[in-house]
Amino acid sequence: MRRLDFFPTPYPDECLYSIFCRYFVRSGSTSNKKTIFELFGEAQSLASFVYLPRRLELVDEWAGTGSLITRECLADSNSCYGYFSIAFTERMLREMEEKIVTGGSNRSLERQMIQKCRRSHWPEYLRYCPECTKEDSESFGEAYWHRLPQLPGVEYCPKHGKAIQNSSVHLKETTMRFLPASHALCRLDEKEEPGRRLYKGKYLMIAKDSEWLLANGRRLNGCREVARKYKELFMEKDLTTAQGIRYTERIKSEFIKYHGEDFLSRLFRMAKIHYTGWSLPL
Ligand SMILES: [Zn+2]
Repeated sequence: MRRLDFFPTPYPDECLYSIFCRYFVRSGSTSNKKTIFELFGEAQSLASFVYLPRRLELVDEWAGTGSLITRECLADSNSCYGYFSIAFTERMLREMEEKIVTGGSNRSLERQMIQKCRRSHWPEYLRYCPECTKEDSESFGEAYWHRLPQLPGVEYCPKHGKAIQNSSVHLKETTMRFLPASHALCRLDEKEEPGRRLYKGKYLMIAKDSEWLLANGRRLNGCREVARKYKELFMEKDLTTAQGIRYTERIKSEFIKYHGEDFLSRLFRMAKIHYTGWSLPL
């Protein structure tokens, strides 16, 4: 694959898909297919780049060796790797870390990563905070797609407290097409739904935690370590036996008491999860 003539400098919290969209616009391309081949050397679906650090073995072709745009930067700052890595097994995490360091291609790891990231729960449309979009246009001269509003349960912007809006871009459309925010977000909505507003405080907590995970999740070392930490916390709250066996029913009722049944069913409906009471994946 030929080295690209240029590659856009990533903006703060910008997802990889958005960086590719800006490449498409700046290269003056009129063919999605041609740009996909320029970027990947073969046919490639684009939708998962809204979330995942895929095809990192190509970073040297995109940005050149010695560039400040590295595999690690893109994984950490322009993908949701940190957020999703808390569900990774030890082996997946090790393979992903190896891929970041060596740049080796690992297609089976990419497939597993997509499975782990529960694609069915991703929001239907690309989403945005109207205030962040205005600020981006002022600071950078263009709008772009952020990572955080695309995550399930993020309904308010933690920076501005504004309700997150659906754009007109359906996630399915991003599979084979570059749909830049600068085109899609010419008109900004500020729709607010009373049901959502009722739980603004709770949604803001989820948004802040999601933001924290994006930045720090990678350091939590995957699902086993996270499960171990939960177990410690359950023990502290007398939700396990002295031997550490979980009282599942008690955990469930404490969880529902803390979040509220109505909020949980709303949250699950938005994430397209069939809610039948609540079963904890313990
Ligand atoms: Zn915002």
